[in-house]
Amino acid sequence: MHELGITHEILEIVLRYARRHRVTQVSKVLLEIGELSDLEQEWIQHYFDAISRGSVAEGARIEVKKLPCRFFCRQCGNEFVTTLTNDEPLICYGCGSEAVEMISGSEYTVKSMEAT
Ligand SMILES: [Zn+2]
Repeated sequence: MHELGITHEILEIVLRYARRHRVTQVSKVLLEIGELSDLEQEWIQHYFDAISRGSVAEGARIEVKKLPCRFFCRQCGNEFVTTLTNDEPLICYGCGSEAVEMISGSEYTVKSMEAT
């Protein structure tokens, strides 16, 4: 039920934005979600439909864009972005060290929205 809490937060951001810009109907919400997040578009849409009923965001379509993870190398301080979809070992692009930490990959942001 993790998605429900997050969907509430997303809706709040959308409604706050809509009020500020005097939007009367939100048609689309673009979310950026870290690749490692377990958020599923289907569930977000499902919850969003339920909790946005009666608001200006009712009926808005949720679009999700997955973002690659960002890493930081403790060895050389390099920051890099990579996707974790392949089987290659995770090493620093700068020095080849394996002492890397993920600095983002499971966050989400409301990137933009469209109004009608
Ligand atoms: Zn490095």
